[in-house]
Amino acid sequence: MTTIPLPSVAPCAPMPPGTPCTAADVAAAARALEAQGRRILHLEVGEPDFATPAHVVAAAEAAMRDGQTRYAPPAGIPELRAAVAAHVAERGVMAMPEQVVVSPGAKLLIVCTALAALRPGNEVLVPDPGYPAYAEAARLAGARVRHYPLREDGGVDAAAVAARVGPRTRMLVLNSPHNPTGGMLDEGALHALAALAARHDLLVLADEIYARLAFDDAHRSIAALPGMAARTVLVDGFSKAYAMTGWRLAYGVLPPPLVPAVVRLLAATASCAAPFVQRAGVAALAGPQNVVEVRVAELCARRDALVDALNAVEGVHCPRPAGGLYVFPSVAGLLARTGGDEGALARALLEREGVACVPGTGFGRGGAGRLRFALTAPAAVLAAVGEKVRRAAALGSLAP
Ligand code: PMP
Repeated sequence: MTTIPLPSVAPCAPMPPGTPCTAADVAAAARALEAQGRRILHLEVGEPDFATPAHVVAAAEAAMRDGQTRYAPPAGIPELRAAVAAHVAERGVMAMPEQVVVSPGAKLLIVCTALAALRPGNEVLVPDPGYPAYAEAARLAGARVRHYPLREDGGVDAAAVAARVGPRTRMLVLNSPHNPTGGMLDEGALHALAALAARHDLLVLADEIYARLAFDDAHRSIAALPGMAARTVLVDGFSKAYAMTGWRLAYGVLPPPLVPAVVRLLAATASCAAPFVQRAGVAALAGPQNVVEVRVAELCARRDALVDALNAVEGVHCPRPAGGLYVFPSVAGLLARTGGDEGALARALLEREGVACVPGTGFGRGGAGRLRFALTAPAAVLAAVGEKVRRAAALGSLAP
């Protein structure tokens, strides 16, 4: 049997040694199998399999030819800051271009926000399961992480968050649509969380990178609620909506007092996002949006195909995500029969069936008994994944 290389980090303690854990670990294991000639279906990394829209590529090419190949202002070129301010107005967030900060990727912005806003000893409320960068950023800033749980559908129960607020709590991280569950904050939760933030004077880090990928209802931003723009750092970017993961371009809309500290950190680290990439960002926001709409419809069809296929497997229960790029089924019923945990099942799926997905515990303990599949293959291909899960589990015990 093929052996899988040990992951470089092993944050998911209960899993057997050698189990791939984060998306990067699984991707490395999948590539090792490919190097041996295996065909792998890549559903592990949150990276749209679409091309960057042609007019966006053309704008970057034109900017390069135009000589926009030097350093740019650390906060971003004025044209992109203005385009972002106009764009977020569509979700009801009224911001001045001076509040917009451009960054080479949302991840760096999350880290810079944490470093600018947190002091050692502060506490940060982070969803579990959730995108691992939040906890990492908080810890880099010397803050303590307190996890809050999510509902089965990935929504947030404001009372569960409130129960975790203490005298040292400084920041609340929200991610809607959510990675990995695909849950979205509903109107009631948004109002309750906004009231909670106001009552305890919390800064909200609202990661809205999947805002455009909403399937059924429109995404709503907490920053649009009365008084919330002054205490919300809205993070969004081009990676997901415009299939631009490798371009490294994102933005934040910040309360004005936080802008200088975040810009200082960006200047000290990345210096700036590449100016021709920022030009591409302007073209993406100001140009035709039908390409995004067509892709969201495609993702919606993929979601339905995968959710239906997984729910047809005995022992699998898959909620239908409201947005985002993933489905996050519970495989607890299956594991009860096979033994082993979600890491063992993910490994069996990779080794036996050539399907790469991430064990839920790669997103925290709250992901136990779950797998994350990215919607990064056509619906017809995803429709066959349920059967592959059933076969991988049927081939024998998964217990260590
Ligand atoms: N936030 C979330 C919730 C994500 O899932 C990701 C990427 N997987 C990011 C931020 C980072 O995006 P970027 O490519 O802009 O760094």
